[in-house]
Amino acid sequence: MRSFREYVADASQPLRRDAVDILQVNLGYVCNLRCNHCHLEAGPDRQEAMDRAVVDDCLRFVQGAGTIDVDITGGAPEANSHLTYFIAELRRLKAVKRIIVRSNLAILEEAGKEHLPAFFAAHGVDIVSSMPCYMESNVAAQRGAGVYKKNISVLKKLNALGYGTGRTGLKLQLVYNPGGAFLPGPQAELEAAYKENLANDFGIVFDDLLTIANMPIGRFRADLAAKGELAGYQDLLVGSFNARNLANVMCRSQISVDWQGRLFDCDFNQALGVPAVAGTIGGVGAKDLVGLPVKVGDHCFACTAGAGSSCRGSLDKCG
Ligand code: SF4
Ligand code: SF4
Repeated sequence: MRSFREYVADASQPLRRDAVDILQVNLGYVCNLRCNHCHLEAGPDRQEAMDRAVVDDCLRFVQGAGTIDVDITGGAPEANSHLTYFIAELRRLKAVKRIIVRSNLAILEEAGKEHLPAFFAAHGVDIVSSMPCYMESNVAAQRGAGVYKKNISVLKKLNALGYGTGRTGLKLQLVYNPGGAFLPGPQAELEAAYKENLANDFGIVFDDLLTIANMPIGRFRADLAAKGELAGYQDLLVGSFNARNLANVMCRSQISVDWQGRLFDCDFNQALGVPAVAGTIGGVGAKDLVGLPVKVGDHCFACTAGAGSSCRGSLDKCG
């Protein structure tokens, strides 16, 4: 198999970081769920959580970054006790355009977390919610029994707060990822199907659907290997390489920070333990990262396959 580096060289589009438009902050690997596609292998048994000192380092980075979006993820970011402090402090900073929380929704039904949707709304936080299907059986297969009903309950509460309704400016985006060793279908078609089914069955509305391809790393990789499907999935990703996506892969404009403050080109390189630079966010500014080469590997084929994939969905919006 030819490597991702060779494909990039053939396309004459070396991957280097442009200006940092997005800081993706991973607050840790603790999660109430243990999904079978999780590239970070997050779960209730994990202990890693960002402490207050690293949160403050992230705030200093943002302050010095010019205008920037902050995308907060995990694990379940709601499991970190510094989340509300972090959001409240971010909201004071003029540099911050958009604050996003990536939520699995189910955690917002847990004791002690019920206040968070209203807190998010009051602080103008957009919500990106993983919801691998509009059908209960598919969600249960990836995320466990009972998760779907909690997701529906939380989506109704978010709609009641104005999320996804178009009336308040509070964005609600859902995320689809495939339930097996295949690429996502066209984003626009899936979005239409989600919207029709969730509206008809529950009266739920949302802004957009983002499709994300599964990375052959972490728990998803182990699952594929156990089923004898790993080589076939990698062949699919390589065979679907689309050079047009190289111009838009998210590592060109985003940097990811882990719970210890280490910096990575993306959440996937974080899962693989391949840092973008030495040191931590406390000693690095956004301008220091501009122009640096991205640390690519063969997992990157998941970002360039077909219509392309990123934390912001398909790269080819027609795909
Ligand atoms: S995919 Fe998301 S919700 Fe599922 S275990 Fe991983 S971090 Fe938690
Ligand atoms: S996996 Fe990360 S480094 Fe590789 S192309 Fe995707 S975003 Fe860039």
